[in-house]
Amino acid sequence: ERVLSGEASMNDVSFEQSLRPQSLSQYIGQDKVKDNLSIFIEAAKMRKEALDHVLLYGPPGLGKTTLAVVIANEMGVNVRTTSGPAIERPGDLAAILTSLEPGEVLFIDEIHRLPRAIEEVLYPAMEDYCLDIVIGKGPEARSVRLDLPPFTLVGATTRAGAVSAPLRDRFGVLCRLEYYNESQLTDIVVRTSDILETEIEWDGAVEIARRSRGTPRIANRLLRRVRDFAQVRGDGVITLPLADEALELLQVDKLGLDHIDHKLLRGIIEKFRGGPVGIGTIAASIGEESTTIEDVYEPYLLQIGFLQRTPRGRMVTQQVYEHFKLEVPHR
Ligand code: ATP
Repeated sequence: ERVLSGEASMNDVSFEQSLRPQSLSQYIGQDKVKDNLSIFIEAAKMRKEALDHVLLYGPPGLGKTTLAVVIANEMGVNVRTTSGPAIERPGDLAAILTSLEPGEVLFIDEIHRLPRAIEEVLYPAMEDYCLDIVIGKGPEARSVRLDLPPFTLVGATTRAGAVSAPLRDRFGVLCRLEYYNESQLTDIVVRTSDILETEIEWDGAVEIARRSRGTPRIANRLLRRVRDFAQVRGDGVITLPLADEALELLQVDKLGLDHIDHKLLRGIIEKFRGGPVGIGTIAASIGEESTTIEDVYEPYLLQIGFLQRTPRGRMVTQQVYEHFKLEVPHR
């Protein structure tokens, strides 16, 4: 299991529950998204209406599920949670929709994975708060319209491009979550330490933040590992040298890169003279799937400017040579 994965592992689930911010004011960072949402939420509350449907998109672990819960809390309603792959038949979705209370939030994670036939049930539900149900079969079949209570659909996806246009168009609010900066991640690490009743020095928190790939889930996971290390090897207090030693042991380098990133970047340098090289060729050369590289490894490397996408493929940048202390070739 990769310690730097943005995806949740079995280990993260109950730990994360206890760390979830409950309100917009506890939710660190994503200021633009929070500013927008707080206005829409206030307006909806003033009109005593359900909040408009919200689509949250961005890489895994940036706080989409957390934000869905926060939205429901701010609206003062319950949230029902499900995911695209969990809804197998149109009837499954109809059952959930008809059981909602007025104003409630329905959160659908990985909404891009909803089958098309099920998506179509959502269209009238989102637009007019109603369901079109077909009763009977063949020539006897007729369609019946069923009213639903007003509700808010919050959809989350890591791939906005994979959400079909008709579904995307039915969301009134589109929020793109961004990677967090070092100072926001430091605040998250300090907040989590508080909740875990772990003593941490500021520069220890900064060091964990710096190596967390802009992702709160990773920051919290690294903190947990460093805390274990502090307990066993130190006196329980997370200091800078201790954090540094623990993270070295976890093979997370100063920029939050691990052996898989190294393999990818060094592979491009050593086998393809730094690129440009096609994603399929890179994938084959290091034994990974192209989609895994595109969805999991590459986004952060693009974000920190270590990789560039060109029409002829991926290229490493000068920073990579500097990071690995290699001589920059003349291109
Ligand atoms: P996935 O892609 O798996 O659905 P996600 O984007 O929904 O992930 P969350 O599960 O919401 O991510 O967040 C992961 C963890 O990071 C949570 O435990 C939460 O405590 C923490 N977290 C996320 N965003 C914030 C934030 N803005 N402030 C504080 N903690 C946060």
